[in-house]
Amino acid sequence: MTTVEANVSGPLTPEQQAEIDALRAESRATLRATVPELESILFEALPVLDHGFIRVVDYMGDDAAVVQAARVSYGRGTKRARDDQGLINYLMRNWHTSPFEMCEIKLHVKLPIFVARQWVRHRMANLNEYSARYSILDNEFYLPDREQLRAQSTENRQGRGDLIGDDEAARVLEVLREDALRAYAHYEELLNEGADGEPVDADRQGLARELARMNLSLNFYTQWYWKVDLHNLMHFLRLRADAHAQYEIRAYADVLAEQVLKRWVPMTASAFENYRLGAVQLSARGLEVVRRMLAGEQVAREGSGISPAEWRELMATFGRE
Ligand SMILES: Cc1cc2nc3c(=O)[nH]c(=O)nc-3n(C[C@H](O)[C@H](O)[C@H](O)COP(=O)(O)OP(=O)(O)OC[C@H]3O[C@@H](n4cnc5c(N)ncnc54)[C@H](O)[C@@H]3O)c2cc1C
Repeated sequence: MTTVEANVSGPLTPEQQAEIDALRAESRATLRATVPELESILFEALPVLDHGFIRVVDYMGDDAAVVQAARVSYGRGTKRARDDQGLINYLMRNWHTSPFEMCEIKLHVKLPIFVARQWVRHRMANLNEYSARYSILDNEFYLPDREQLRAQSTENRQGRGDLIGDDEAARVLEVLREDALRAYAHYEELLNEGADGEPVDADRQGLARELARMNLSLNFYTQWYWKVDLHNLMHFLRLRADAHAQYEIRAYADVLAEQVLKRWVPMTASAFENYRLGAVQLSARGLEVVRRMLAGEQVAREGSGISPAEWRELMATFGRE
């Protein structure tokens, strides 16, 4: 049986990097809008987690395209930068979302299967995944950093809390690594296929790829192309670059927000940060409590019509714990 050296590579092989370098060495003239800041990372792999990445493969539109669509203009539609930023802020503040749907981006993402299961819930996008029915998956699996090895949170049933101790952490990593390595070794055994495509054991037929893969664990990496418009990308980021999202998908959302969105559409990114990421939503009752407090009243939760959980969140938002 062939045994691949496990889980030691970076996100790209030298051959994959060479393909990217070749793409980046070519350039084409176009009349379409381009964004030099985004072009500077086009095709490159932005690393995420231990073996994952995000690559921008293609894009359409820029901040000016949002403005152009909002003004339904014949030309670029932009005025002074201050006016354009003001218009984009207005659109964002008032949930006038359709101009943002005029921009699109296509990404190549390499991510653990358990992250992919969360990501794929975002239906307003187009997706094509690597076929493990057709191809053999690589021996690459996610192992969390020490900092991420935490116990179940006592406050949030859907999250992690305090760091676990050193001995337990060492054992956790040992279990994760050993199980993944064993699963991959069995995957190879079931396939019975060497790197040259020939059977390793000539007496066995080997199991079809579409079946052999089912024994792999959720931390193995998969890959896909994902195309989304700017409006739905920001919706994804609002949910997944948020503290409530699981760390591993947040790692991808953070790279998208910080390294892609800001390069691609800096004005939109700035409005998004202000009116979405850094903003809070108040219920009607919460707003009433804040109004009364601002008027100098001592307000108690009892009688406010607000649940203890919402009250805690509201007080934390205004630094009134
Ligand atoms: C912190 C967190 C915890 C979560 N926990 C769970 C969980 O425990 N279990 C679980 O199953 N999921 C969970 N999810 C997934 C969540 O419920 C959503 O499925 C996911 O965030 C995608 O959001 P979306 O539907 O708004 O996005 P998209 O699918 O991209 O849709 C965008 C918008 O389009 C509209 N839309 C899309 N499809 C439809 C439709 N069929 N009908 C009507 N409107 C539609 C909606 O307005 C929607 O908001 C969690 C998500 C987060 C961020």
